[in-house]
Amino acid sequence: MKKIKRLLIVGGVAGGASCAARARRLSEAARIIIFERGPYVSFANCGLPYYVGNVIEKEDELLVADPELFRNRFNIDVRTQHNVRRIFPGQREVEIEALSTGRIYREPYDALVLSPGSEPLRPDIKGLGLEGLFSVETIPDTRKIIAWLRRKAVRRAVIVGGGFIGLEMAENLSKLGIKLCIVEMQRQVMPNMDPEMAAFVQNHLEEKQISLYLGSPVVEFSRDRGDKLRILLASGKSLTADMVILALGVRPRTELARTAGLTIGETGGIQVDEKMQTSDKNIWAVGDAVEIKNFLTARPNVVPLAGPANRQGRIAADVIMGLDRHTHVFRGTQATAVCGVLGLTIASTGLTEKILKDPSLKGPDFTYEKIYLHPNQHAGYYPDAKTITLKLIFSKKDGKILGAQAVGLAGVAKRIDVISMAIQKNATVFDLEEAELCYAPQYGSAKDPVNLAGMIAANVLRGHVSVGHWEDLPVADPMILDVRDADEFEKQRLRGAVNIPLNDLRSRVSELPVDREIWTYCKVGQRSYYGSRILAQSGLKVKNISGGILMHGAVKKSKPPA
Ligand code: FAD
Repeated sequence: MKKIKRLLIVGGVAGGASCAARARRLSEAARIIIFERGPYVSFANCGLPYYVGNVIEKEDELLVADPELFRNRFNIDVRTQHNVRRIFPGQREVEIEALSTGRIYREPYDALVLSPGSEPLRPDIKGLGLEGLFSVETIPDTRKIIAWLRRKAVRRAVIVGGGFIGLEMAENLSKLGIKLCIVEMQRQVMPNMDPEMAAFVQNHLEEKQISLYLGSPVVEFSRDRGDKLRILLASGKSLTADMVILALGVRPRTELARTAGLTIGETGGIQVDEKMQTSDKNIWAVGDAVEIKNFLTARPNVVPLAGPANRQGRIAADVIMGLDRHTHVFRGTQATAVCGVLGLTIASTGLTEKILKDPSLKGPDFTYEKIYLHPNQHAGYYPDAKTITLKLIFSKKDGKILGAQAVGLAGVAKRIDVISMAIQKNATVFDLEEAELCYAPQYGSAKDPVNLAGMIAANVLRGHVSVGHWEDLPVADPMILDVRDADEFEKQRLRGAVNIPLNDLRSRVSELPVDREIWTYCKVGQRSYYGSRILAQSGLKVKNISGGILMHGAVKKSKPPA
């Protein structure tokens, strides 16, 4: 173990606290000091929305550890309300201001770890400083929100930003009986997902009586004479509310690193190598503040999530304390994330189509195909089976898994976690086909949704079936064949579609054209797959529309209006 005498850490929450605790486990000799400018260390920022919603009832339940615990259990000196103002890399010192007394002093270091987190994006919107507008970043923020909720008897709120913090706040405020609107400048909520997958989230929010204003940023906040907040959108639409939650996204907090002359990467985060070392050999950086490589593209990106921050903090401690430098490296991130909103789970890992459509990501490795499926989260015959809508994106070259997204009422996170791990091991769809996952009727199916995704994708790559996608229909102009039963066809059909129910297909193959491509669909893509196998073996040119008519609505909804 390396003899580090003084380890200083800036920021005492996810990355900073995990770095400090790990460092102590590796070295009893080091002097470890955490500087945290806020009033708390190691608090659960991910739990804040649930504290507002009273799911977490007591504020102190958010405190994972306090300075006393750090001192008594880990012999770590935690200084809250201490702001690190400057780094002097040449002298290996930091300058600190004790916020309660105003005292300014310096501390020397052998190793310095920066984990200052991110800062909220604050676009130049008129009226942003008005009373009644709140962010959700710290415990004091939530106190202000709760006090306002009580004082103003809030009935209507507007959430600006439809990312995961916006949605988690929507869940919690909605449970308090507050009428909600979500305003999002992009044309979809959950910008980390592809739009047709986000469409399922949007449907769910609307079902839960949450109004959505998509594709129209807020241009002004004001207060009307009746003391209500007025929120003016670029579209000209004006909303009123008793409070506004700002969940506009974050960017890396880099001021300290910048003024110390550390290299800032192209995406705005502190540049680090795979050992979390910055451009200064005595300074490491972790968490939301850093730019790290994407595991699949090897391109730099910033990923403000708690998992990477915690793991990076641990890796920095390992490296600083001299633990095997070859094995202790950060692999990169796939931005694996999950979010729940009013019963719906939304999860994703790896690359989205939005990313893959970037023309600079060319080449066989990123030439992709995708499939959609809608399996049950557990055996259909067991009570309470719920549908998962799953999208799998994979390389056409070798079947390597590039990304997955899923939404559903149950079993979503488990499937995305399995696929996430598969991506980390560079697995292919053929590996998903063969993945051995636990099964009993109340937990899954003998062919788990993950297996099914692998099987469907493998069928595509092996040429057993050719897939089509709704968005390609206008260009392809095929004959459209609906293989659902006649009553389903009567209820909802696609214009121009011909109906031959699957059970009749073998006897009616002769009715179909041999010189025109036929695209088959059903509700979810399973019956039409069976149908396309019948037609293909009869020598017809056939494509199965992936995800069935369930995806048609989603694709239509995700398209900007003409
Ligand atoms: P932080 O945990 O933010 O800690 C940085 C700390 O550094 C801050 O406390 C700050 O006060 C302090 N600091 C900054 N500058 C200085 C300075 N100069 N001197 C002293 N101290 C300083 N992620 C998930 O993966 N899942 C979730 O469900 C999830 N939910 C979230 C919900 C909310 C409401 C929020 C706000 C975040 C959520 N996140 C979630 C994101 C996650 O919390 C962050 O990715 C993670 O905390 C980042 O860790 P960090 O150590 O980089 O920064």
